[in-house]
Amino acid sequence: MEFKAPRGTKDILPAEIEVWDRLVDTAKSVFGRYGYKRIETPVFESTGLFTRAIGETTDIVKKEMYTFKDKKGRELTLRPEETAPVVRAFIEHKMHVEGSLFKVFYWGPMFRYERPQAGRQRQFWQIGIEAIGSPDAALDAEVIQMASVYLHEIGLTGVKIHLNSVGDKCCRPKYTDALKVFLKQESEGFCEDCRIRADTNPMRVFDCKNRACGAKLREAPVIMRYLCDECKRHYADVTGYLDDLGIDHVHDDHLVRGLDYYTRTTFEIKHADLGAQDAVCAGGRYDDLVKQYGGPESPAIGFAIGMERAMLAVRTGNDREEEKSLDGYIIALGDDAKRKGMLLASNLRAKGIKTAYDFSGKSLKGQMKNADKAGSRFAVIIGENELKDGSVTIRDMETGEQRSVPVKEADTWLTKDSGI
Ligand SMILES: [Zn+2]
Ligand SMILES: [Zn+2]
Repeated sequence: MEFKAPRGTKDILPAEIEVWDRLVDTAKSVFGRYGYKRIETPVFESTGLFTRAIGETTDIVKKEMYTFKDKKGRELTLRPEETAPVVRAFIEHKMHVEGSLFKVFYWGPMFRYERPQAGRQRQFWQIGIEAIGSPDAALDAEVIQMASVYLHEIGLTGVKIHLNSVGDKCCRPKYTDALKVFLKQESEGFCEDCRIRADTNPMRVFDCKNRACGAKLREAPVIMRYLCDECKRHYADVTGYLDDLGIDHVHDDHLVRGLDYYTRTTFEIKHADLGAQDAVCAGGRYDDLVKQYGGPESPAIGFAIGMERAMLAVRTGNDREEEKSLDGYIIALGDDAKRKGMLLASNLRAKGIKTAYDFSGKSLKGQMKNADKAGSRFAVIIGENELKDGSVTIRDMETGEQRSVPVKEADTWLTKDSGI
């Protein structure tokens, strides 16, 4: 066949779906425990929503958005991220309640036209949260803790939390000026794009994927020295609360987020086994974004976890034993046995027992192979002898042990914790 999934997209096949579902189920359970509720927003939005929030001069807006006109000429874009849509929904539906938090989580596909590589796709999935309505540093700590609990519960070990502050509108301009001076002085060490960024939006240089630029930036001035007193105190409070909660974290001067809307706390959770694309979770504050969109003063924080990367990391990080996908696999030999077998399968499923019926028409041996391939705990055999005395033969696929039991007791045997 000549059709293939478009470049940068990926099918998630049944063999992978168990881990995939675990990512989603754990999100419901962990975020639910912290009082977050799920939100769904459209997959496409007005283009302006993203250009304004993310910033005209970012790579996302300039190069990576899937933008199109619909039949009426409306400018639309497949969402490259979910913070702007959530903020749009928050304002549109007047969700602001004085003194209370709007806490939501989401998962879904996002779209960016990037060069595909391991853990990075053009249609990629994110699980994330947004907490809108408080500037409190304790909220930052709670949100970071929640992210780390989530990663722990999906089975990810060996992660490291990197933390920085990117200041606010009061202190960041001073830093931007200092950075600009540095970039001008050292301009021959930087790529063409970075030289342009030095004029348009200096902090963007930290997004540059060019190695030489990355190395040069090690010498750049660090924002921590330029923070105003309030921003400094806020950052010290966040790290203090994290220490109280027993959450390990490291300060990272070079963690500077590429999107315009970030303020103060910014963090990434990295996993060593993921290589260059090692951030499995990224987040931070965006205290001015709601207001920029014409909403009420609503400081906020959020994070997003890349599901493909999380899945890669879970796979490389731990090989926990897979749950069997079936309890019983019915092997019926002959037409009469088939009728009994179909009925038994139906009765077992009605009791919540995961049961498959073999339609291959193969020999006993062939069907046993199928039962093994299907990953069933037990095979349930109905042949001539079993038909005669109203029994079935249950075979433990792991040990090979088998025993004959009355049909009506099949369910109890199939749901036993240990073998037969
Ligand atoms: Zn560069
Ligand atoms: Zn400040």
